[in-house]
Amino acid sequence: MICEKCNKEMIRVEKGRDLIWKCPECTFSIATTNPNDMDTDCTIYQLFILPNDEITKDKRDVIKQLLGCFTLESASILKDGKMIKQGYAWEILDTINALMSNDIKFKITPNFPY
Ligand SMILES: [Zn+2]
Repeated sequence: MICEKCNKEMIRVEKGRDLIWKCPECTFSIATTNPNDMDTDCTIYQLFILPNDEITKDKRDVIKQLLGCFTLESASILKDGKMIKQGYAWEILDTINALMSNDIKFKITPNFPY
């Protein structure tokens, strides 16, 4: 979603059943009702890190923070890929947001509809 005031990419924030798009530049935001109700979704999702070509310190720091692991391990996870988390949609959402905002490649099985 693009900010209609300054054309910046907006940030997606989910709060319960609300889906909010916030612009990082100006204060513009749009709130909608979350189209999918995560609370009633009983699917267990698996979150995999895919092999990333570009491994930066920032990406390693994100993995370290998410998994509580050491630098060496975070680098090898980013390089080789690994299943790092499984759980209900709302349990893995924060992790997904952290990966997305740091441009880390990942996949979710089954397909994550949110
Ligand atoms: Zn804006």
